[in-house]
Amino acid sequence: MNIKKAIAALLITAALAAPLPAFAEISHADAERIWKKVASPTELTALPFFIKQDSVPNAWVTNGESVTVTTGLLSLLESESELYAVFAHEAGHVKLNHITKTRNRAAGLSVAAAILGHLFGGYAGGLAGTAVNAGANLAYSGYSREQEVEADDYAVLLAVQNGEDPVGMYEAISRLAKVNKTEPSGFNSHPPDDRRLLHIKNKILELKPDAKFPEQ
Ligand SMILES: [Zn+2]
Repeated sequence: MNIKKAIAALLITAALAAPLPAFAEISHADAERIWKKVASPTELTALPFFIKQDSVPNAWVTNGESVTVTTGLLSLLESESELYAVFAHEAGHVKLNHITKTRNRAAGLSVAAAILGHLFGGYAGGLAGTAVNAGANLAYSGYSREQEVEADDYAVLLAVQNGEDPVGMYEAISRLAKVNKTEPSGFNSHPPDDRRLLHIKNKILELKPDAKFPEQ
């Protein structure tokens, strides 16, 4: 086992044991700076930005009124491009009018819950998302599968247009999927939605043919 693999094993062990590993956490200042990099080209700079102390990895835009990211997500993600992608995905839901198209109460829409719900087969249903997101005090109303794909594509395009690494989208979703496997949920028995990851990979390669992906 080489050092890289040993560290990866430690990371997985730490993720299983505690949702908040004490290393590699994106700082709060960096998180806000990264959000601003998304907010500027998407004209969402007026949205108040919040960091919530919560071990559940998550981020969401509340009815287009504010953007929130949990400390759990800042711990889970390992690069700036990954957090950029999550924010860009959320911005996509706002810019593509998904929030008004989706019948929802003024609660909250969760990117992680939606991603995980889709990965584990809970398309447009709140079951997977609600189970995953139980600790986040969010009412998950759910975007459609098509809206999630649109938001993924939006995030990839935004990254490419602004000189960010679009592979962050692929890595962020891969990471969220791995975490979900540690949740005591019946949905763990469902296979991850490889089609969605493949779609993201193809979209990235379409826009940036020389993109480098992590080893699987
Ligand atoms: Zn989404």
